[in-house]
Amino acid sequence: MFENLSDRLSGVFDKLTKQGALSEDDVKTALREVRVALLEADVSLPVARDFVKAVEAKATGQSVTKSVTPGQQVVKIVHDELVHFLAGDEADIGALKVDNPPAPILMVGLQGGGKTTTTAKLAKRLKEKQGKRVLMASLDVYRPAAMEQLRVLGEQIGVDTLPIVAGESPAQITKRAKQMATMGGYDVYMLDTAGRLSIDDTLMAEVEAVRDIATPRETILVVDGLTGQDAVHTAENFDGRIGITGVILTRMDGDGRGGAALSMRAVTGKPIKFVGLGEKMDALEEFHPERIAGRILGMGDIVSLVEKAQETIEAEHAERMMKRFQKGRFNMNDLKMQLEQMQKMGGMESIMGMMPGMKKAASQIKESGFDESVFKRQIALIQSMTKLERANPQLLQASRKKRIAKGAGLEVPELNQLLKMQRQMADMMKKMGKMGKGGMLKQAVK
Ligand code: GDP
Repeated sequence: MFENLSDRLSGVFDKLTKQGALSEDDVKTALREVRVALLEADVSLPVARDFVKAVEAKATGQSVTKSVTPGQQVVKIVHDELVHFLAGDEADIGALKVDNPPAPILMVGLQGGGKTTTTAKLAKRLKEKQGKRVLMASLDVYRPAAMEQLRVLGEQIGVDTLPIVAGESPAQITKRAKQMATMGGYDVYMLDTAGRLSIDDTLMAEVEAVRDIATPRETILVVDGLTGQDAVHTAENFDGRIGITGVILTRMDGDGRGGAALSMRAVTGKPIKFVGLGEKMDALEEFHPERIAGRILGMGDIVSLVEKAQETIEAEHAERMMKRFQKGRFNMNDLKMQLEQMQKMGGMESIMGMMPGMKKAASQIKESGFDESVFKRQIALIQSMTKLERANPQLLQASRKKRIAKGAGLEVPELNQLLKMQRQMADMMKKMGKMGKGGMLKQAVK
């Protein structure tokens, strides 16, 4: 899985990480090569373009962290973006919702994609890893051989299958499966629907009917990863008509490119839950974006190096600030940093919302008309001061105040408010500093 892409990218990044300084052009060239590598891995053009754009925006906006090279930092950004692309915001990629027994799982997909094999693999996994009692039922009334295949697999892995009754419709089989799962005390029942060679209306209508009877907890699309972009289109189609909750890509053991895996989330918004890596019943792996990104880039050492360096810098930075505060120093630069920190953490409302008992206060602030853009305006005001003024805001004269406010596109009263806030905070810091070395601040840091 991903060998070709991995080879290509390590070529690009080997060059980049060895360079001491990077120009904008160096980064641009490298990212162009990343884009080509993605396209060769059969990632669709818009996805590749979005990916590179996101990396570029982050790379240009970031200052270089001490003790790592700029190239190493770019690798880290690419890594994080890759994880984001593969995962979206979902945390539980490999997990299936199988609470409230019996939980129905609907398996859908085209014929030959590996649906029946994967149904059995998943059943085995639920049984062995989660201790679930699973019942499997084949709804493929057109191919008796497919029903027989599921029964044989069930015997092989020690999972029950719904007895085959000739002449029943998929809807009838579904009702019977539901009944047997309920009466028999099963935790999960899996419905292996019939596939077609291509997406057609009859197939979709049939799956819809089954879905409405079973109201599945999970609807998993099984699709052949080797088909690349077609796999992504198939997922879009099934999702549009049936509504899927996740994807399993099969035959990833034979796929050196991995384009389907890379584009799936970005295009369909649906997570890849597992990948099939062979014909054996154990050849099913959870899809962990972190691990996959690590595997693709093959640069885990660099990623953790940069993470450590960033943590160290943050800790050093906090300590420096603390020392300043203890001496009672708090100028506009400090205030700007605090404001930026607040912005980064999602503003007052979310910070207060995280503290016990503060939820109400946070909503009151909101109701009183406080709006987060205040931070932005205050930062703009500070930015339009000179270096000297930021360090010594008490020096500001009326004429400069006017210029500064104008520079930020704001009015003087707002600047006065900001100056007052800074003075109050500096006073507070001084008082706290006087409380001695064992004072509040020191304790707060520990
Ligand atoms: P269905 O028509 O979608 O139910 O497909 P099947 O489950 O019958 O699978 C078709 C073929 O693909 C079988 O020979 C499987 O053994 C094979 N297969 C399924 N998953 C994988 C996989 O992850 N890797 C490989 N190499 N073969 C697979």
